[in-house]
Amino acid sequence: MDIKTKVIHAGIHPDSATGAIMTPIYQTSTYVQDSPGKHKGYEYSRTQNPTRHVLEKNLAALENTKHGLCFSSGMAAADCVIKLLSPGDHVLCSADVYGGTYRIFKKVYERLGIQSSFVDFQNQSNIEQYIQENTKMIWIETPSNPMLQIIDIKKIAQITNQKKLLLVIDNTFATPYLQQPAPLGADIILHSVTKYLGGHSDVVMGALCLNDDGLYESLAFYQNSCGATPGPFDSFLTLRGIKTLALRMERHSENAMKIAHYLQEHAKIDQVYYPGLKDHPGHQTASSQMRLFGGMLSFTLKEDTLQSAFKVVEKLRVFKLAESLGGVESLAGHPATMTHASIPKEERIKTGVKDSLIRLSVGIEDIEDLQQDLEQALS
Ligand SMILES: *Cc1c(COP(=O)(O)O)cnc(C)c1O
Repeated sequence: MDIKTKVIHAGIHPDSATGAIMTPIYQTSTYVQDSPGKHKGYEYSRTQNPTRHVLEKNLAALENTKHGLCFSSGMAAADCVIKLLSPGDHVLCSADVYGGTYRIFKKVYERLGIQSSFVDFQNQSNIEQYIQENTKMIWIETPSNPMLQIIDIKKIAQITNQKKLLLVIDNTFATPYLQQPAPLGADIILHSVTKYLGGHSDVVMGALCLNDDGLYESLAFYQNSCGATPGPFDSFLTLRGIKTLALRMERHSENAMKIAHYLQEHAKIDQVYYPGLKDHPGHQTASSQMRLFGGMLSFTLKEDTLQSAFKVVEKLRVFKLAESLGGVESLAGHPATMTHASIPKEERIKTGVKDSLIRLSVGIEDIEDLQQDLEQALS
């Protein structure tokens, strides 16, 4: 089945009791049993809920994996993956990652004995030198946040396969419509469902997709033991959002490409970071592992100051200044003071997050309206 059909149908069946075409919202915490232990597959909604279950089946099908697990946020999903590790273990991460990912490793798990280091993964040839005796996991984001760096998933998977390390890919920016890391060799795919999968800025949720049965059992055990699971109404909203994922990602990508070209020609712009541009260093790799280049892009101003970036984002009207991304509406963000404020300035500058860097989540509005909004804000 093609993914354009899967987003609408995979894992979803008409309700057996009524024929309802939409998955019902099973707003219940518990389930009646015929005799102790004799039930219909559901005992308690932290462990499993029918609405969430359908969403997990749907997500697994989209990522071409056997299993899916949903969480109350993307960070709860990340937290569950890190619980696979023990004190003394080490994780090697790509340097340009979501600020919260950096924070959970450095501010939460380092204290509990889990070591992490952050290195530039764009040049795969020097990755092996950073793998330590105690390295158990490699964690990468591609395209990355906010620099839109591209990492060759297949090449990294060759290394992790050979060295028996777990490869975790945060696929939030691409979504399974644009990129499927499992067939390329990734072990665990992580999503902030809050972003493109939900797609309408009305749900906070996370997900993991994977093939390995043993890993799935461990993760499901930690999920149920620690309890960061999403509610049935959010699961329903997400199932509804995913139905238009293919259409939305097509338009997000088309609009972002046009805006990237427009900004590149603008006199006040210094650099534009978008993997769809031919001069982007990851363009070749992105073309081979992605269907289209997505809706996220970043740019810097020639006048590289916090003040000039503030002036631009304050003047935008159609683009709204807000954290988050991936909804139908266009958003602008200032990583240095917003999403990446928890990263020390030296670290931030090293990965390219300059003072004037502005990140756009290009929505699905009319392209002329978006372009005119940028034009008036920049002038
Ligand atoms: C937002 C985001 C997260 C965290 O997800 P939440 O749902 O906000 O907890 C993780 N990774 C990436 C790439 C993100 O954009």
